[in-house]
Amino acid sequence: MVSRVIPVDPFDLVVFGATGDLANRKILPGLYRRFFAGQIPEKSKIIGAARSEMDIEAFRAQARAAITDHVGKAKQVPAQIEAFLRVLDYVAIDAQGDAGWDELAAKVDCARVNAFYFSVAPALFGPLAERLHRYQMAGPEARIVVEKPFGRDLATARALNATLAAHFDEHQIYRIDHYLGKETVQNLMAVRFANILFEPLWNAQYVDHVQITVAETVGVGGRGSYYDKSGAMRDMVQNHMMQLLCLIAMEPPYHFDPDAVRDEKLKVIRALQPVQPADIVRGQYLAHRHCADEGALRGYLEDVENPNSRTESYIALKCHIANWRWQGTPFYLRTGKRLRARTSEIAITFRQPPHSIFDETDASWRENVLVIRLQPNEGMNLKVMIKEPGPGGMRLVQVPLDMSFAEALGEDGADIPDAYERLIMDVIRGNQTLFMRGDEVEAAWAWTDPVIAGWDERGERPQPYDSGSSGPEDALMLMHRDGRRWREIRE
Ligand code: NAP
Repeated sequence: MVSRVIPVDPFDLVVFGATGDLANRKILPGLYRRFFAGQIPEKSKIIGAARSEMDIEAFRAQARAAITDHVGKAKQVPAQIEAFLRVLDYVAIDAQGDAGWDELAAKVDCARVNAFYFSVAPALFGPLAERLHRYQMAGPEARIVVEKPFGRDLATARALNATLAAHFDEHQIYRIDHYLGKETVQNLMAVRFANILFEPLWNAQYVDHVQITVAETVGVGGRGSYYDKSGAMRDMVQNHMMQLLCLIAMEPPYHFDPDAVRDEKLKVIRALQPVQPADIVRGQYLAHRHCADEGALRGYLEDVENPNSRTESYIALKCHIANWRWQGTPFYLRTGKRLRARTSEIAITFRQPPHSIFDETDASWRENVLVIRLQPNEGMNLKVMIKEPGPGGMRLVQVPLDMSFAEALGEDGADIPDAYERLIMDVIRGNQTLFMRGDEVEAAWAWTDPVIAGWDERGERPQPYDSGSSGPEDALMLMHRDGRRWREIRE
């Protein structure tokens, strides 16, 4: 199956923070891959901007290294790389000063689509928006891409929304959540709304519960001091996991249109009931006892160099959506660092048939489960019961109907675009469907804030858990007491 590549019109893209980690690992390699695919015309301009003084050749050398390090070998074609590097330009600029701004304004063609990617610390989002306006680059064709974190609570998110709104209309603001750019996440909408099969069962009558897991094997690494001010609730639940939950739980939008989709997601967030303290388990990883890796020897408190830290590196919680569709179906969310495997998935567990004509004592009996894998191996898997093959009588066995996108889509599927490159192309095309609207972000913080305030007030400490485990013991109990259990964390 060959995917169609539809070139966009020539555009100008300014990447603020072009010397940083995200630009080098994701943005520049992603842009090259789109260029290689023929989607970015050679008349486009990609302008790197950061404070570091360097000439264009130095920036091109940096971009070349980023491509070498982060693009698959098959796409490292010298002629294509040279052509891509010719599209690049660089301006040394200070987001908080005046240096470089006239030069940048002279390079940006305001008559065509111009996008400004804020790949810098959040404290610079406001100053950048303000200067783009002051230097007359905030015209009708301009759009800004804002990285996470978008605020650290409702008050700061509101203030940031107000600052951005002073210079740009909402339809020009692209709040990025790279989870929404993943192929599987978009496929979730296709599976739900382009098939008759699932939607009639997609409610509390047929769905027993939903589990959303985002497990990482890495610790906080070099981001310790940043992470310690944030924690898993702010870093993962309020944004990525909330977005996944919305896509599972939302009503069908009347059309696949940015505001129609985001209106439905917003209704889900507003219908989320406050989480009870007993329905949350927080954890901090301990040092790895059996690991030769130097870094993994340290526990969370050593990693963040704060022995009194109460920030969680793991969280599991149960929440309910108070509407007709989901009344009585719990959603279990868990995410953490230094867990036993790196995996992200959504599992929808259906109820058992109302009456079984088979042997009820058969220990192999299982519910149907639809698993949507985000990583690794993006794909879907539906667990169904069949008869165990052979003449041994009518015994049941659960088998997966497996669809790995890479396999199902052949060579083309193995080359699923990275979330960032897909999202940047959506920015150029002016499609906001996969970006968070300001009111969505605020509603998510309005739900998150009281939870965080609650454990701050109670002075709760996260529970320790072993590195390489599945998280704290109490997280298991969160499910056990409801007569359910977490899916195993494995790749
Ligand atoms: P980083 O490696 O620290 O890079 C920051 C960039 O900002 C550098 O290019 C730096 O270059 C530039 N910069 C700093 N101060 C500046 C100023 N006053 N004016 C102009 N440019 C300035 O950060 P990052 O990891 O790339 O992250 C960038 C943003 O993406 C952050 O908001 C982060 O939260 C978000 N994010 C990152 C990741 C990731 O995987 N890295 C993932 C999700 C979200 P100079 O020092 O040369 O100015």
